[in-house]
Amino acid sequence: MTDKSPTIVKVAGPLVVANNMENAKMYEVVRVGDEGLVGEIIRLEDGKASIQVYEETAGVGPGEKVVCTGQTLSVELGPGLLQSIYDGVQRPLKILEEKSGRFLARGIDADGLDQTKKWDFVPVVSKGDTVSEGDVLGTVQESTLILHKIMVPVGIKNATVEKIEAGHFNVTETIAVLNENGEKKEVQMRQFWPIRNPRKIKQKRIPDTPLKTGGRSIDMFFPLVHGGAGCIPGPFGSGKTVTQQTLAKYCDAEVIIYIGCGERGNEMTEVLNEFPELIDPNTGEPLMQRTVMIANTSNMPVAAREASVYTGITIAEYYRDMGYKVALMADSTSRWAEAMREISGRLEEMPGEEGYPAYLGSKTAEFYERAGSVECLGSDGRTGSLTVIGAVSPPGGDLSEPVSQNTLRVTKTYWGLDSKLAYQRHFPAINWLKSYSLYVPNLEKYMIENVAPDYWDVRATALGLLQEEAKLEEIVKLVGPEALSFREKLVLLTAKSIREDFLYQDSFDPEDAYTVPKRQYNMLKTIVHLYNEGLKLAEIEDFDFSKIENLEIINKIAGVKRLPIDNDYAEFEKLREEISRELAALA
Ligand code: ADP
Repeated sequence: MTDKSPTIVKVAGPLVVANNMENAKMYEVVRVGDEGLVGEIIRLEDGKASIQVYEETAGVGPGEKVVCTGQTLSVELGPGLLQSIYDGVQRPLKILEEKSGRFLARGIDADGLDQTKKWDFVPVVSKGDTVSEGDVLGTVQESTLILHKIMVPVGIKNATVEKIEAGHFNVTETIAVLNENGEKKEVQMRQFWPIRNPRKIKQKRIPDTPLKTGGRSIDMFFPLVHGGAGCIPGPFGSGKTVTQQTLAKYCDAEVIIYIGCGERGNEMTEVLNEFPELIDPNTGEPLMQRTVMIANTSNMPVAAREASVYTGITIAEYYRDMGYKVALMADSTSRWAEAMREISGRLEEMPGEEGYPAYLGSKTAEFYERAGSVECLGSDGRTGSLTVIGAVSPPGGDLSEPVSQNTLRVTKTYWGLDSKLAYQRHFPAINWLKSYSLYVPNLEKYMIENVAPDYWDVRATALGLLQEEAKLEEIVKLVGPEALSFREKLVLLTAKSIREDFLYQDSFDPEDAYTVPKRQYNMLKTIVHLYNEGLKLAEIEDFDFSKIENLEIINKIAGVKRLPIDNDYAEFEKLREEISRELAALA
């Protein structure tokens, strides 16, 4: 009789084909080969399964066994996620390293959550209460910054709490017993969720609050909202990683999920070494207290890279469900798409544009659609948000390639990084002529009420000046600066100040790296004031423009980012009055 147990028949890089897989299910997790490498079934036909393997397959060969687990690829959710650094399939890097040393051995089992650590569980419901999916049963102080909410697992409805007690539990111990229509359900602090399915919500809301990043170019000109989706495309060296990391450090989300996807190992090492040392400027606490990192460098298996973005976004959704504002950064989604392309190629699927699978567009859209401001499951009416920011690395910076195009279609904020600006060391190298934010209408009311009534006028004037500057520069190139009118010279002078004194921002200067919205507004308003007041001199015939350029006040405007902000921005108001006075004196 022939052996009917699942057996490998072919190995092609990260893809393994096995037969006798009649009992397997699509997306089931399997253990592949004698070493038991972790894999996931991504195609099934006639008892033959194509399996993408999340570990190196070198040395694995036909004839070796495959063991089905009956599980789909899931993340383990519960207290202990924060401060963790995981690989693409949620194995803690520290544990992998402890078990196998610097060079990761294969087939290592490592739980996503520490199974032994005890947490103080504090119930918020009582025996006899009726609860349903998403209702909070109790809390655990997970880190100094985050109160972890233990929620009724999805799928349970109108259950009576039969037992719940405060105490010291690990994530596998039962913290509550629920009775759903006579059926007893034991609830632990951990739950599992398949990474490829979005977690359930009540409904999406229209996002209406800004993600405050402290970045002036971003917040003032091309804002993102809590629950929005944005992208940062840019060629090599233009600042994608620095921008993502600056966002992870400073943005006002409560929980950060940072996915290093396919980037060079040394870059990720920098992040991994630096991040645990950083202090949150908003709270004074170590930043890792609110952060989960997923590291999948270019030398790690390609299939795990494909999974890493799903692992990350599922963890992000879990904290969103507790009612937190979560931000996820993925650097770079191009490497994720390349992983998809490689696996699709091995599956011999019909290639689409540039060899990417035909489903690249739908996968990209599905990923970014998991962002949102939402009404969470649960009866307390809590809301949460998940903001997604993906870096894209188009080869040669050419945005017509498929990953950029598909990303631009589904993200509403676009920060276009420019190699020319980076070369001139204008940072952040966000091109102000090409970038955009479709969230401006969402924020109209918020900015007027919380920052200033003329917030949008100041922004519009400044953007208009930058656009006019670009046109005037063309003219200057052709006919020289003498041909310009007084107003045009004033446009150039003000636009230069907007670029150099406002937009230029050094991420590595702790004083400059973060600017609160009201200061941003006051800085820009002061610069724009130079233009508005200068215009009053436009009527004077044969006015010598160098008189304005030589004013002491121009130097003072250049120092606008160092002005103190106490006394409700009185120093800025004083500077604006000085601008008015000095210009009027020239009349
Ligand atoms: P990319 O990820 O696009 O390849 P990086 O983020 O690694 O590019 O940036 C390349 C270099 O540019 C950085 O090492 C840094 O010197 C500089 N840089 C980028 N953004 C900034 C910034 N906002 N402030 C200061 N320097 C920056």
